[in-house]
Parts: sequence; C-alpha cells; structure tokens
Amino acid sequence: MKKPNIVILGAGYGGLMTTIRLQKSLSVKNANITLVNMHNYHYQSTWLHEAAAGTIHHDNVRIMIQNVIKPERVNFIVDTVERIKPEEKVVKLKETELKYDILVIGLGFEGVSHEIPGLAEHALMMKNLDSSMLIREHLEYNFALYNNEKEKKQSRINIVVGGGGFTGVEFLGELANRIPELCEDYDINKARVKIINLESESTILPGIDQQLIDYAMNSLESRGIEIITSASLKECKPDSIIYEKDGKSIEVPTMTTVWTASGRANSVVERSGFQTKEGKIEVREDMRTQDFDDVFVIGDCALIRNAKTGKPYPSHGQITEEQSETVARNIKRIVRGKTELDKFKPHRLGTVISLGYNDAIGTILRDCKLYGWKATFLKKMLANRYLLKVGGLGLVMKKGKFNVFY
Ligand SMILES: Cc1cc2nc3c(=O)[nH]c(=O)nc-3n(C[C@H](O)[C@H](O)[C@H](O)COP(=O)(O)OP(=O)(O)OC[C@H]3O[C@@H](n4cnc5c(N)ncnc54)[C@H](O)[C@@H]3O)c2cc1C
Repeated sequence: MKKPNIVILGAGYGGLMTTIRLQKSLSVKNANITLVNMHNYHYQSTWLHEAAAGTIHHDNVRIMIQNVIKPERVNFIVDTVERIKPEEKVVKLKETELKYDILVIGLGFEGVSHEIPGLAEHALMMKNLDSSMLIREHLEYNFALYNNEKEKKQSRINIVVGGGGFTGVEFLGELANRIPELCEDYDINKARVKIINLESESTILPGIDQQLIDYAMNSLESRGIEIITSASLKECKPDSIIYEKDGKSIEVPTMTTVWTASGRANSVVERSGFQTKEGKIEVREDMRTQDFDDVFVIGDCALIRNAKTGKPYPSHGQITEEQSETVARNIKRIVRGKTELDKFKPHRLGTVISLGYNDAIGTILRDCKLYGWKATFLKKMLANRYLLKVGGLGLVMKKGKFNVFY
C-alpha cells in the first residue's frame, strides 16, 4: 500500500486512544495520520455527571489534545464532521473536505429526547462538556434565586432526574453530595430541597445484580433522593413536569429536569448512508463495517456482538478503549500489507457505578461484587489508569482522582 491517509473522526475515548496508539506504532514514513474533533480538547464522558453536578471542576474533565498528541506525527484538525461519503472515500467537514484511505469513525453519542412533549425545549441533557456546565450553572442559578425572590418558588429547588440507568444513578449520587453544599452556600434549608428520580422500569439499573441495586437504592434514598419506579414522564414544562404512575397523572413543580434516559449514536453515521441498527453501524469482529473494508467504527457508534452469545456489547468507556487496541493493531497490519486482521476480544476488569465521590457499586472478575470504598477505589483507579495511557504520569498527577477514602 502507498503511504496511506488515515483519518480518525472524533477525539473521544475511542478516537483519541486509537490516535495515541497509532502515533506510537506508525512513523511519518509509514502513514499520514489526521485526527478531527469539534473541540480542541478531549473530554472524559464518564466524568460528565460530576461536572454537571459541580462536584468537580470542568477543567479536570477536559484534556487539551495538543498536550497528548505529537504534532510531528498527527495532523490535528478542529472542525465538525458533517457527512462521510464512503464510496468516494471523502469526509465532508464544515470548513473543508478530507480524502482517506483508512477511516475510523469515533463520533460518540448524542442525547435523544423521545417524543415527550416539551422535553427537547425544557429539559437539560449531559451530551458533552458544554451541556454539563450548563446544568451546573442552571442548578446554581436557581438556588441563588430562591432567597432573592419575593415569593419563594419550590420549583427552583425541586430537581427531577429522568432515567435510573447508569448515567442517571451516577448523577443522582453526585447531586446527593453537591446539594448540601449549595444549601449551605445559599442559606436554604436542606429539608426543603427535593431530588426526584423517575424510572419507567420497575427498578433502577435494570439488568444488574439485585444486591447491587438494593445497595444503590439505600445509598441514594438515605441521602434524601426519592426514587419513583414504573413512572413515565409524560410532559415537561418550563416550571413543572407531569408523570404517570399506576394510571394516575402527577404534576411536580420544577424548573430543573435533567434527562439521562436515552442516548444514541451520532446521527452523522445515519446521515452518511451507512446501514444502521438502532442508529449504530454493525461491525465485523475486526471492527470494520460490513460493507467497507477501509472503514473502522469504534465506541458508541459501533454495534459489535459477542460471538458466543450474539448479544451486543454495551456502550462503555472501557469497552471503547479496548476496541481502540484492536482498531490500532488492525490498521498497523493493513499498512504493513497484512490481510489477516485481529478480532475484538474484550478483557473487562469490571463495571463500577459511582454513587457520589465516596460510594459506589460494581462487579469485578465476572461475579465478585464490590460496595462502598472498595468500589470507589476501583472506579478511581480505572480513571487514573486511563489518564496514564493517554498522557502518562504527568497527566495522572494533574487530573487524577486520589480522594479515595473520603
Ligand atoms: C454521564 C455519562 C457517564 C458515563 N459513565 C460511564 C462509566 O462510568 N463507565 C463506562 O465505561 N462508560 C460510561 N459512559 C459511557 C462512555 O462515556 C461512552 O461509552 C464512551 O465515551 C464512548 O466513547 P466514544 O469514543 O464512542 O465517544 P465519546 O467519548 O463521546 O467521543 C466522541 C467525540 O467525538 C466528537 N464529536 C462528536 N460529533 C462530532 C462531529 N460532528 N464532528 C467532530 N467531532 C465530533 C466529540 O466532541 C467527542 O470528542 C458514560 C457516559 C455518560 C454520558
């Protein structure tokens, strides 16, 4: 193969790690590597709920891309991908067009507001770092206004979180830590604040072990969060929401609804005419699309099935990071003229769900359950391990999580 143009779209968990692996293993003599991202920074989506609650500063969540890539090896372009034309091997960006020989699509997810009336207009979503910062500011603004208006409005200090999946539960855990601080700052009686979680299934965290669910429910409820299961959000208005439970409609005054219940693969993939399932591109075991040998897909845009069970792997940061290993190795093989490619085999260390900065649940080595500080420790070590891979010890020291025992 002549010196190929490798174009990587998106500098999230998948795209950035693929780039970093390729810049280590391919020299400028072997390939031209181009990374495209809509911001000049990478943000860790797995920390967005913390930035949204305000329990960590947003600067800890973002990493300037120029600090972790080598400009002599990688051409980094800040631009927005509008469309991919796989038949022509062209990517249309907002400002320019790029030609590729090998493409990696790592454009992540976007929030979906379903068809619920008013949700798109009045609810907030954790789609990226900007939207997480907006949630933090919105919370603080409403708490600040509460004592500054003639008539105290309960809707300013009622918070509704839609969805009791991973993201919803992690955000609730952070709110449980953050709200007492906001109450102290703005002199509000903590007992007046209501944090309500609405989940349409009969349980939060559907699909995970019941003991872990019970622990999470106890942890959240003991810190004042009201979890309402089998409840569907029906309407979102500027100063209230309506949900339905047991056939009854209930209205809750609130100016803060955070919707965490659904995300989907970036719509650029569907817009570009790729065959999709639930918005994702189904890939082969070597992470290439079914139809194009020169297009790899990674992370939340990829649907890859466990070869034994036929079930899709979940969209997780850790899985995405492991996929980047397979993608980078396979690109290296193609550049070196090899035709046999590696298959994706995840070796997940475990799954951990935080319940605030000092509590968590998780499983490790398949069935070993973890609770409390042990799970918190594992969660933070996984985060630090990722930083180590991206930017070495310097980045871990700068942005790592070390507050493990409180
Ligand atoms: C709040 C939250 C908490 C989570 N917690 C966990 C967790 O604890 N553990 C876990 O394993 N997973 C977690 N996840 C899931 C995990 O973050 C994702 O699975 C992972 O980020 C997927 O990586 P990705 O590379 O596909 O996408 P992303 O990391 O989302 O990166 C996509 C990149 O593409 C860029 N981009 C998007 N559109 C364009 C465009 N048109 N043009 C140019 N650039 C573009 C974005 O700016 C971004 O840099 C969480 C997700 C959220 C939202």
